Amino acid sequence: MIPKINPESSIDPVYLNYFNRLKDANFLGDIEYSYSSRLAVATDNSVYQRLPQGVIFPKNRDDVVLAVKLASEPEFAGLKFAPRGGGTGTNGQSLTDWIVMDLSRHMRDIRELNVNERTVFVEAGVIKDYLNQQIKPHGLFFSPELSTSNRATFGGMISNDSSGQGSLKYGKTSQHVLTVEAVLLDGSLVTFGPVSGEALQAKMNQENMEGRIYRTVYNIAKEKREEILKTFPDLNRFLTGYDLKHVYNPETDTLDISRIICGAEGTLCFITGARIDLTPIPSYRSLVVIKYDSFDSALRHAPVLVEANALSVETVDSKVFNLAKQDIVWHSVKELIKEVPDKTMDGINIVEFAGWDNELEGSRMKSLTDSLDRDLGASGNTRGIIGYQTCTELKDILAVYAMRKKAVGLLGNAEGDAKPIAFTEDTVVPPKHLADYIQEFRALLDSHNLTYGMFGHVDSGVLHVRPALDLCNPEQEKTLREISDAVVALTAKYGGIMWGEHGRGYRAEYGPEFFGSLFVELRKVKAAFDPGNRINPGKICVPFGNDTDKLVSVDDTKRGSFDRQIPVEVRHSFRVAVSCNGNGLCFNFDKTAPMCPTYKLLGDRRQSPKGRAGLTREWLRLMQLAGADVLSEEKKLDESGFSLKAFFEKVSNTLNGDNVNDFSHEVRNVMDCCLACKACASACPVKVDVPDFRSRFLNLYFSRYLRPAGDILVKNIEQVTPYMAKVPRFLNAVNGLAPVKFITKKLWGFVDVPVMSYPTFNTLVKSTDAEYLDLDRMNRLSAEERGKYVILVQDAFTSAYDAKVIADFIVLASKMGRKVAILPLKPNGKVMHIRGYMKEFARAARSTADFFNQVYGLGIPMVGIDPAMTLCYRDEYRKILGDSRGDFVVQLTQEWLLDNLDSIRPVSAEKAGHEYYLMAHCTQKSLKPTTHADWTRIFATAGLKLVPVPVGCCGMAGLYGHLKANVERSKEIYRENWAPVFKKYPIEYCLATGYSCREQVRRMEEKNVLHPLQVLSTLL
Ligand SMILES: Cc1cc2nc3c(=O)[nH]c(=O)nc-3n(C[C@H](O)[C@H](O)[C@H](O)COP(=O)(O)OP(=O)(O)OC[C@H]3O[C@@H](n4cnc5c(N)ncnc54)[C@H](O)[C@@H]3O)c2cc1C
Ligand code: SF4
Ligand code: SF4
Repeated sequence: MIPKINPESSIDPVYLNYFNRLKDANFLGDIEYSYSSRLAVATDNSVYQRLPQGVIFPKNRDDVVLAVKLASEPEFAGLKFAPRGGGTGTNGQSLTDWIVMDLSRHMRDIRELNVNERTVFVEAGVIKDYLNQQIKPHGLFFSPELSTSNRATFGGMISNDSSGQGSLKYGKTSQHVLTVEAVLLDGSLVTFGPVSGEALQAKMNQENMEGRIYRTVYNIAKEKREEILKTFPDLNRFLTGYDLKHVYNPETDTLDISRIICGAEGTLCFITGARIDLTPIPSYRSLVVIKYDSFDSALRHAPVLVEANALSVETVDSKVFNLAKQDIVWHSVKELIKEVPDKTMDGINIVEFAGWDNELEGSRMKSLTDSLDRDLGASGNTRGIIGYQTCTELKDILAVYAMRKKAVGLLGNAEGDAKPIAFTEDTVVPPKHLADYIQEFRALLDSHNLTYGMFGHVDSGVLHVRPALDLCNPEQEKTLREISDAVVALTAKYGGIMWGEHGRGYRAEYGPEFFGSLFVELRKVKAAFDPGNRINPGKICVPFGNDTDKLVSVDDTKRGSFDRQIPVEVRHSFRVAVSCNGNGLCFNFDKTAPMCPTYKLLGDRRQSPKGRAGLTREWLRLMQLAGADVLSEEKKLDESGFSLKAFFEKVSNTLNGDNVNDFSHEVRNVMDCCLACKACASACPVKVDVPDFRSRFLNLYFSRYLRPAGDILVKNIEQVTPYMAKVPRFLNAVNGLAPVKFITKKLWGFVDVPVMSYPTFNTLVKSTDAEYLDLDRMNRLSAEERGKYVILVQDAFTSAYDAKVIADFIVLASKMGRKVAILPLKPNGKVMHIRGYMKEFARAARSTADFFNQVYGLGIPMVGIDPAMTLCYRDEYRKILGDSRGDFVVQLTQEWLLDNLDSIRPVSAEKAGHEYYLMAHCTQKSLKPTTHADWTRIFATAGLKLVPVPVGCCGMAGLYGHLKANVERSKEIYRENWAPVFKKYPIEYCLATGYSCREQVRRMEEKNVLHPLQVLSTLL
């Protein structure tokens, strides 16, 4: 039995007092200091880990003012803060030991849109892609781009001065910020923007913090102008971290303090919002994807491409796109980046042309492709170009960029313990030196025998390189230091900088060396804003006059130092949890993206794949510290039977008040909310598979504590359901009685029990030509006779609750010239897996797999109707049974139909009149990314038009939506994701592949939606 674990990380009483006082002072936002809440913000995408004292989530700017004013009371004068947005920083910028002020949860308001002037005000927590979605109807967008645009906030983008693809034309965030609204450390709310003349004098004359800031920055920017110009490199990606160069315009004597705040990494003030300028959406966009025989050829060709007046030139090496090929994302680009026959593609350049003059941009693209044709046709082509493809459809352009954006995360999916990590991932040198610089960079990495993938914005000289290191090995921390130092020197040699895109963070220690005598001026700026070193201390610089505090360093505490406390076998076994690299893709705001429904609904980072993975990692570490070997505990559970002693121990542990602060409860709470929809298992770039480790966690957790009563039902539901299905009218009547509903809810924890099918499955089957499979008889049939059959693999739920779908499948098969042989029900086990009954699941999987392997030997296709159940045979069965699973294949309905397209004949024109709308099951879309395309093709073969609808989860997910504890969440997810679809499309033409999804629609709309096979069975 696992022990009780206690993190023993107490909170400093002054901080606790502060949180309590803040609560009493009518702070409208959230204040959290549970261990799980603190852990959720202890990491970002960097290698560092710092546990804060607590997190506050202001509701609005008044909350920020309130929090800062309270902190300025003498008893709280020692309190320190770090602002945080999406938490996607790559260098630990938002990590702190003190209070995290997270402005991303609530401060998401967009207001004062002025379409004529092309400006808008965004609160600090607004996500860039969300803003662009809102303003798209006005033909506008915020142009600086970044790979994390679907989760990064304006607070973070301003503070890191973000930019990315297209920066030559669109610039950096700071170039589009008109004014910044911020709370200073004295609690005043100010707005910074360009000020000159009398207004500037008036600002400087103020006897307050704002006045001091104006005076200090003005004097430095003016008096040190020459030194500033000499020190700041002349790069498109100009220096972040107190931009003394652009803060002052000597020609107009204008000071714009907002330019200092842009790129200040949250070290000066709390940004509450900003007025930004917007750009008209280009009317023309096209891409040329150029393929090369080597990465070096791609790099050396880049300057030519920039001269072709392209918007952007992005380079990707073969390591990165080979990883992309193994990911779900490749499915959307494989036709756009095809292999070149007989050639090895070892690098690509993605060249975009975009603008508002279609003719001009089109001719630019044509000149480039003409020159590529010449290069390709020329004998002795020296540029290494092996081919190119173009795309002009917006959806294709976006697909190529989505692949490129995912690339950093994909690097984290490398095999082995060494993982590509961020610490030298955003160097910049003048583009003309890039190829030579990279040669030296590669030599440096090769001298350490490191693997790495490379890609970057070659047009501006920015290179993304993440060398693979295993930071659980302390020796490799030393390598990180050596490479860091060497890269700082190398970038300096080529006139560049180490932090060209993602901010400095823990690389702050290189600041003094880089800035030389100017560094003291940065410290004076910091002192004007934050003399007490209270906001994001240690980053960028320490305030002038403070000689005790230190800068953060690349040697600071890393996540690896915690992870290495987990035994290596456990780390390997829980790879799908431990490998989360915090890139934050699971925080994607977009409701149509499948990952992650619970995070989208609750807005709580703990309830995301990253949150769940992080808590599990910590849980494994604490288990080890408490002396528990989780792998042996799992083995013991596999081997043990029912024991009265163990049962009474569980009762005692559950009732014992001393266990209330067991950290395992916090982990369970976040696991309970997970729908086990599996979206993370494929959409996460490193394939963090929450349902996999969630089941293992629940298995161990319930070895110590009692299970809810409903779990007993769940464990046996597949055995019981077929018996219940024999008396549907009786059970439906009983289940409809108020006292029964009450007992079902109170005792078993279930609500809205679905109605059983009547007529029953057996009755329906009798009216068809289907037969129940007789293995011996089938074995005796000739191959030709077997060829006429298809085997239907039933699942307990579809047969009992949605029998008509199965009957319709039989009709469809018959119309396609096939006879259906129905397999007797064998437990699938998915529900056991979900509830963490691992031993029972393994037993069920073993027995079912053995039987299915025999059936598979017949050589007749086996088909399942429900996608989640069918995919369980491939996914969970393989994980639990390993090679002993055998080779049997249960096809999804669409897979079988695709194999038999020649048996589908087009329907008459009169029947083909309607358009249908497909809403596919989450697990199916995740594990079978071609689902939409497959069904569209099948319908097209039948002469029918099918429109795939991009929707998130329906909220039902098997039993999840029927559990009392989840029902409100389940309905809310439905209202957010599915309900709007039925406002747009007529429900009678909407189709859903999942039994759960159809059940959820029945419950919420009181209407039936069909499975797509039912349309075919009726119309064919
Ligand atoms: C896979 C990946 C790809 C990336 N690609 C790019 C890229 O293409 N271009 C690019 O520029 N960056 C990139 N980044 C880095 C990062 O995503 C961006 O810099 C992003 O803008 C950070 O935004 P955030 O909301 O996540 O900020 P956070 O990480 O939460 O914070 C970043 C900094 O901003 C400060 N901050 C946040 N909110 C406030 C506030 N309201 N007031 C004051 N300070 C605040 C924090 O203290 C911290 O110093 C990438 C990161 C990852 C993981
Ligand atoms: S769970 Fe996956 S998507 Fe989310 S932060 Fe971790 S690695 Fe990124
Ligand atoms: S299974 Fe679904 S709900 Fe659970 S963490 Fe993964 S994406 Fe989120």
